[in-house]
Amino acid sequence: MVLFWTFIACSIVAIIYSLRLHQVTGRQRELARLVEERTAELLERSAQLEVANATLEELAAVDPMTGLFNRRRFDVFLQQEWQRSNRSRLPLSLLLVDIDHFKQFNDLYGHPAGDDCIRKVVEVIREAANRVTDLGCRYGGEEFAIILAETPATGALAVAEFIRKEVELLAIPHDLHPERVVTVSTGIATKDGDQYPRMHDLIGACDKALYRAKNEGRNRTSTDVAGVETAPARVI
Ligand code: GH3
Ligand code: MG
Ligand code: MG
Repeated sequence: MVLFWTFIACSIVAIIYSLRLHQVTGRQRELARLVEERTAELLERSAQLEVANATLEELAAVDPMTGLFNRRRFDVFLQQEWQRSNRSRLPLSLLLVDIDHFKQFNDLYGHPAGDDCIRKVVEVIREAANRVTDLGCRYGGEEFAIILAETPATGALAVAEFIRKEVELLAIPHDLHPERVVTVSTGIATKDGDQYPRMHDLIGACDKALYRAKNEGRNRTSTDVAGVETAPARVI
């Protein structure tokens, strides 16, 4: 009899234990499913965040009016290419392109027409600076900077003259300009060796070349290369 009741008791305990075990493993499975679901959600969210961050970074580097890179991107790219040029000993050219008599253009045709004109010039710049090692950016107002990595002075001059001629060919009327159409002037400086100890010196030389192009009559290109700066300003 005792044996019988012991058997019954053991059976009841075994049944309760297996029921509990079943419950616990069920909960464990449910928990594992939830963890899996949440992990997948988290992974998706972090991928979305990465995309959003990349978009934000891209937006922060672009000038909203023209879609060209901005000064911020210019600073980073020039620094990077300056160091790369120091290591590789390959030349690095910088161009500053400025629209001539643009204040008068705005005064005569209005600011929206001025904005349109800037966008048209930007299209030409985009076409000219099309290598992966090139970077065109809006340096400020109606001034643009182009970095041409791995490019000597001759290549930079060809790019500048392409831009100058193409802008002239756009034939955007400008009645307060002696040439009656919108034109640009460009200064070029090339790091080819150790003539510029600091990046700042290259930018300064480029700025000076642009100033010279303006002083010599505009719609022209001037370079920092000895002998070339006084040579015929326009390469036909
Ligand atoms: P220079 O030939 O010596 O370069 O003369 P400039 O008149 O082009 O130069 P200045 O620096 O005197 O004037 C630049 C003008 O560019 C003044 C400013 O109103 C205009 N400008 C700058 N940014 C913009 C812009 O985003 N849109 C428009 N429409 N005009 C702008
Ligand atoms: Mg100007
Ligand atoms: Mg200017």
